[in-house]
Amino acid sequence: MKYHIVTYGCQMNKNDSERIESLLDLSGHQKDSENNADVVIINACSVRGRVVDKIMGKVNNLSKDKTLILTGCVLPKDKPKLIDKFDHILDVEDLPLWGKKLNFLKSFEKDDYFSIKAERKKPIAHVPIMTGCDNFCSYCAVPYVRGRERSRPVEEILKEVKHLIEKDFKEIWLLGQNVNSYNKGNSPDFSDLLVEINQIPGDFWIRFTSSHPKDFSKKLIKAMKECDKVPEYLNLPLQSGDNDVLKLMNRPYTREDYLRIVNDLRKELPEITISTDVIVGFPGETEKAFKNTLKLFEEVRFDMAYIARFSPRPHTKAAKMEEIIPEEVKKEREKALTEVLKKTALEKNKKKIGKKIRYLTLKYEDGIDIGKTSCYKTIKVASSDKDIGNFKKAKIINANHFGLEGALL
Ligand code: SF4
Repeated sequence: MKYHIVTYGCQMNKNDSERIESLLDLSGHQKDSENNADVVIINACSVRGRVVDKIMGKVNNLSKDKTLILTGCVLPKDKPKLIDKFDHILDVEDLPLWGKKLNFLKSFEKDDYFSIKAERKKPIAHVPIMTGCDNFCSYCAVPYVRGRERSRPVEEILKEVKHLIEKDFKEIWLLGQNVNSYNKGNSPDFSDLLVEINQIPGDFWIRFTSSHPKDFSKKLIKAMKECDKVPEYLNLPLQSGDNDVLKLMNRPYTREDYLRIVNDLRKELPEITISTDVIVGFPGETEKAFKNTLKLFEEVRFDMAYIARFSPRPHTKAAKMEEIIPEEVKKEREKALTEVLKKTALEKNKKKIGKKIRYLTLKYEDGIDIGKTSCYKTIKVASSDKDIGNFKKAKIINANHFGLEGALL
């Protein structure tokens, strides 16, 4: 049988698609194009608006002789609209049960798909450590589609990471909607997990996403400092630098809490690179409130930020809020934050000139290595050595807003 997977959504969904792919390969099926496939699996995400239309459009364009399967984060309210279009609607969490429901999947052991997955996309691997979310940020539909937080057992995670390291993976991303509330803070918590993974022999980096400021403890900062395999990079979503907006967003921390975490981090890890996620134009974000976010950007001096203009997600509280901010104002706010970001990122990157830095090669194009540094900056280095997926060292010779240029050492 030939299959094709269409993926919408975040890194967690992409990872789920990899697991599905592994299962199908394990059952002896071949990946093929959308047109040639006998089975098309849509791994969807209706967290973002208009996805139902997108799925409908995709399905209507496919020839009628294919078996169609829908899985992923689909809001219960959206499922009735799609039920007639698909042969199966399956929960991705039930992957081990799929074999029983579909006669084209054999039964399998969990370890089998770890090993098949491990043949793919070197040198970076994504390992889910928890899924779901209990936070109910007012703009986010994840808790409704992925359900409540569930953490994977430590032993299972360690086994998967060891396996990936044996297969020569160099960068392990620990994934979850709220990784630092792993095990709800009970023992072993996320800091303990980092320490355990750090003890696995081998030369590799451990990265993680997403973190929530409310669960960011001093114990975690200490673990990050002590674990030599955790590079000096962190994404810490801010979402807003204004306390009233944070309350409206149901984010239970203040701008002062956020600044305290950043100070604590920089005290222990002076070289740390910090990126963030922020939403502009959230309903009720006044000019004064936005200025607070802008001010915080100037104070923290982020290296990178993912700036999103607010757009309502179906079924969330924020979608029903009335103080709508015009699109033009959102664009202006996005521009203002981008200007600050460009300035601080450039200044920080320029400070790296002359320093020696370790990087992981990800691509090779026209005599240039393109990789990511330990501090998660894109780096370009002239090299005659085409191999990718290895660590190399370079001296930084140039810097721009969001990247570095190095000379191979
Ligand atoms: S913590 Fe993240 S996943 Fe959870 S509700 Fe908030 S934004 Fe959504």
